[in-house]
Amino acid sequence: MKKGLLIILSGPSGVGKGTVRARFQNDPKLNIAYSISMTSRAKRNKEVDGVDYFFVTRAQFEQAIKNDELLEYAEFVGNYYGTPLANVEKLRNEGKNVLLEIEVEGAGKVQKKCPDALSIFIIPPSMDELERRIRNRKTEPEEIVQQRLAKAAKEMQMLGQYKYVICNDDIDLAAELISTIIKRHMEMQR
Ligand code: 5GP
Repeated sequence: MKKGLLIILSGPSGVGKGTVRARFQNDPKLNIAYSISMTSRAKRNKEVDGVDYFFVTRAQFEQAIKNDELLEYAEFVGNYYGTPLANVEKLRNEGKNVLLEIEVEGAGKVQKKCPDALSIFIIPPSMDELERRIRNRKTEPEEIVQQRLAKAAKEMQMLGQYKYVICNDDIDLAAELISTIIKRHMEMQR
């Protein structure tokens, strides 16, 4: 059996990565397994532990780092985020295309370890629109919104490290473009 792809999906906070992902993730033709990250960030209202993230304390996260349990990790606006290693290789060996939704620093680490990873960066139609989306979400206090916007401007400078850049102006179109890219890469794997 052919090993599955490793797909990295990045983009600034608020760009709509999760919304776009939800549109293509369950397409059986794409054969995707979503890698659930570990984070020390507090759970938002609608999030579910073990579905959106594995929510842990900073101490638990630091223990996972010490135990070498993570493929990569990074700090983002005061919290840890990381990819548990255990499932990624297992699922790829079972032929699944494993999707990581991670920020740019972690993406750089994965690209070094796995140069054949398929990397996709989602950009907003404009920075004003990004700000509007982050504010509309109403999940963070103003101070954190400001930090996320500053971080977003820095992240946008890193898009050159990705194979593909997709604008999320229209959610369906962005999802369709990403599906097409994944299908094309699956064909190239054969
Ligand atoms: P949020 O707090 O908005 O859920 O996530 C903040 C940022 O962390 C987003 O850019 C998200 O993609 C990223 N992120 C989520 N999981 C991981 C992970 O496992 N590793 C890294 N490096 N970033 C992650």
